[in-house]
Amino acid sequence: MGDITVIGGGVSGLSCARSLQLAGYDVRIVTRDLPQHTASMAAGAVWSGSGLDRRSRPWAAATLEHFQRQIEIAGSGVTLQRMREVYGQKVPDPWYRERLPFFQRLSKHEMRPGLIDGYLMDVPMVAPPIYLEYLRQQFQSAGGRIERRKVESLVELADEAGGLLVNCTGVGARDLAKDERVYPIRGQTLLLAAQGIRVGYMDNEAVDHIFPRADGVLVGGVKDAGNWNQALDPALSADIIERCARIDRRLADAEVLRGFVGLRPGRDQVRLEAEALANGGTVIHNYGHGAVGYTLSWGCAQAVTALAQSVLT
Ligand SMILES: Cc1cc2nc3c(=O)[nH]c(=O)nc-3n(C[C@H](O)[C@H](O)[C@H](O)COP(=O)(O)OP(=O)(O)OC[C@H]3O[C@@H](n4cnc5c(N)ncnc54)[C@H](O)[C@@H]3O)c2cc1C
Repeated sequence: MGDITVIGGGVSGLSCARSLQLAGYDVRIVTRDLPQHTASMAAGAVWSGSGLDRRSRPWAAATLEHFQRQIEIAGSGVTLQRMREVYGQKVPDPWYRERLPFFQRLSKHEMRPGLIDGYLMDVPMVAPPIYLEYLRQQFQSAGGRIERRKVESLVELADEAGGLLVNCTGVGARDLAKDERVYPIRGQTLLLAAQGIRVGYMDNEAVDHIFPRADGVLVGGVKDAGNWNQALDPALSADIIERCARIDRRLADAEVLRGFVGLRPGRDQVRLEAEALANGGTVIHNYGHGAVGYTLSWGCAQAVTALAQSVLT
């Protein structure tokens, strides 16, 4: 049974499970899908601090520090990546500027026509297939258990498990936590075997993403709110390649290694709080990270761990 049951095997669940384990708890994960079949697998996944509300910034800052340590570890899937982030309007210096090892503003001649402002910066880039497997291995080799099954009711699981629950079910929290504020934001990405692309590209307004990673170059994308369809759309794949090849023509003929679809867990804000259940048990919710689940992952896991410590003492 153990001290704590984490529900969900995406980046939020694995990060919480590992953080709780490092704090000395006996932890098991119960998940409907294994990590390679989660939304987390479809992600970019760049550390991206832009557009975060004030409440999320400390979580992002803590995750940045965590990823900066992972960059030093071979096989973690986290690398330091030079990125251009571009905008169609003037933007101020971001809150995280001083925390990055390299940051400068783009000049007008470095941007495509129609773009007004932007940053050139070094940020952590995560290759989810490698990082999720790295987290899973760390968790299981330290004695953590993973059970694959769908949880139908938090109260039933609390009755069965006895200890504390941590709910990291992403968009699944809409049903499990009966939270109608949760909705899917469909994403689609392609991993390409493109050569020679050293600097990445991110236009969050057009959703044009070119992310050089440890396992290839990931291109995207789309943010389709309310769409639950998890099937790969070939016409959209062709459109993504065409859009990204207009930014870097080396992408036009690159071999497609893999396509991904993932439902970002949309919510007006992250839900990270403890809730008392009807049977006297307690669940700590940690879901609704939208398009920044990697950026917030370790900081939220640390916040969940601190909450668990206060609940269990
Ligand atoms: C295309 C795309 C690009 C992205 N790019 C970035 C990026 O560059 N940077 C960034 O920071 N973020 C990015 N994101 C966002 C990030 O991937 C998500 O916010 C994050 O993966 C959410 O992780 P999660 O673990 O909360 O949810 P998920 O990965 O969805 O995992 C949820 C888990 O809960 C399980 N589950 C659900 N319901 C139940 C149930 N009833 N019983 C048992 N188990 C259940 C599922 O099986 C799954 O294992 C991107 C997302 C997408 C889709």
